[in-house]
Formats: sequence, C-alpha cells, structure tokens
Amino acid sequence: MKEYSIDELKNIVRPTLGEDVPLLLFRILRIIGIRSLLGETSGATLYMMGKNVGTMLGAADLDDFKRKIEDLKVGIAEVEVIDEDHMIVKLYECITCAGFGYTGEMFCDMESGIIAGLLETVFKKKAKSTQTKSWSAGYNYCEFEIYLY
Ligand SMILES: [Zn+2]
Repeated sequence: MKEYSIDELKNIVRPTLGEDVPLLLFRILRIIGIRSLLGETSGATLYMMGKNVGTMLGAADLDDFKRKIEDLKVGIAEVEVIDEDHMIVKLYECITCAGFGYTGEMFCDMESGIIAGLLETVFKKKAKSTQTKSWSAGYNYCEFEIYLY
C-alpha cells in the first residue's frame, strides 16, 4: 500500500464546495465510525495516528505549535510549562469534544497524539501526552499533561 505525503493531499479542486467540511461529519467519522470499527483499541490507535500526523507536520517552537493547532482548527492551545520536561496544554474549542455532554469518558486521543507529536519536533525529545480534562468529563476545555523523555 502506497504511503502518501501531506503535499500530495494539498491539491483540492472543489470549486463549489471549497476546502471545508462540516465539523459534524468529522465527529461522526471520529466518534461513531472509528469507535464502532476499532472498539476498545480506538483510543490507542487514534493516539498513534495523531502522533504520526503531529511529527509529520512538525513545529519549530511553542508559538509555531500553537499556530499549527489553531490553523488546523484542532483547537486553541494554551501551554503552561511546569519544568523543562513537563507541561500542561489546555485546548479550548477542541475539534472532537467542545460542546459534548457529560459522559464520564475522555476520548480526545487523536488530539492528545497530535499535541505529543508536534511537541516532539519542538523539543527534539520523545513526548507522552495524557488527557486529564474534557468537555465529556465535565469541563469546558480539554487538558493534556505532557512529559518529555
Ligand atoms: Zn477534546
């Protein structure tokens, strides 16, 4: 199976419909479609997918990290550096969960992976991101705890 690069996906010819898709379609694919296919493994799979995408996109520094997250409309990121290998990323308007009702379950694994992947390219270290807050867990933003190693 051929592996495609991001550049190969950039040529979009949709003169009437343009480049945007409804966020609802994304959420149907992401929250219903993928979960029904992958079940309990969907979290780990989405995290790895996000991480690969994050490292492919890459970011030069923390400002570029925030810009990439916002340009892709994944959300609006705020970074709190705890120490050189530990940071907290708050994600407002999360693509997957913003507005979601309380379920007690957190499932923004792809976003968690994208954040980890991008931060790996910023700091040139491995990153592990764990989601700690979500709309679906009773907050009005998403939060991720990141350790570099
Ligand atoms: Zn989220």
